[in-house]
Amino acid sequence: MSENSKIEWTDHTFNPWIGCTKVSPGCDNCYAEQMMDKRMHKVEWGPRGVRVRTSAANWREPIKWNARHASFFAEHGRRQRVFCASLADVFDNAVSPVWRGDLFNLIEQTPNLDWLLLTKRIGNVKAMLEQLGLSEMPENVWLGATIINQEEADRDIPKLLATPARVRFLSMEPLLGPVDLSRHLWKCCGNRVPGHPGDGWMQPPDPPECCGDVEPAGLHWVIAGGESGQNARPIHPDWARSLRDQCEAAGVPFMFKQWGEWLGAGQDGAYDHDPVELNASDAPARVGKKAAGRLLDGRQHDGFPEPRA
Ligand code: SF4
Repeated sequence: MSENSKIEWTDHTFNPWIGCTKVSPGCDNCYAEQMMDKRMHKVEWGPRGVRVRTSAANWREPIKWNARHASFFAEHGRRQRVFCASLADVFDNAVSPVWRGDLFNLIEQTPNLDWLLLTKRIGNVKAMLEQLGLSEMPENVWLGATIINQEEADRDIPKLLATPARVRFLSMEPLLGPVDLSRHLWKCCGNRVPGHPGDGWMQPPDPPECCGDVEPAGLHWVIAGGESGQNARPIHPDWARSLRDQCEAAGVPFMFKQWGEWLGAGQDGAYDHDPVELNASDAPARVGKKAAGRLLDGRQHDGFPEPRA
């Protein structure tokens, strides 16, 4: 279960094991579960399902990618990114700490790769790291939390920000509602200014209760997108626009990954879709993921965190 990936933001995907349990409305249409049910039949989903470790040959793949660093860097001017895991969750309680330890050993053995660990269980991360004897994420890990609505943002982003990691990111896909990130993109002076009434998190610019002495909170990247698949739910263009604008104001790179199954109202389809049509209606149009593409108001948004040498 490793491969060169079609996902826009990664070069490879690596699955150390397969299997998971649904924990969020974002999991409702889990493609990994559907893939197992309809095609691969390798794993039964859910709390009673057994997690299946992938082969030793699969575990050797990242070592090969790591060895190809120089040629990749010469060609692309950046390091390779590995998305781990697309068919599981690294911080799943049902997974043996021994397997997680093996994964972190592999991450350590491949310092030329940037590992993107994206989880829907960000609340587990700190304790699971401590279980492995780590107080922070390895240098070559980008730690991400999936956030699909305001409730998850307010519950989970503080946990992400409290976990030491060189790069922290949000995957807001499938985006299921408008999300105000202002309390999470910025942090206030933390009472450095005398008489400051703040609770540690404030919204610029300069609301009356804040001294205005704010700094970036420590989010380095936001990815947003709609849902694909048979039961996909539409994303409203205003939800994506708002995230784009909030990120721009905070200097945080923003990627609009896809519309998914539904093209938003007033939006062009993909560049290469023939004929490209404007969805001039006030409602989302079900045109399919390919035709919907990833232009937001006519522009492709491909922000990434600053590359590391
Ligand atoms: S966390 Fe990811 S892999 Fe697990 S059930 Fe949810 S969507 Fe599927």
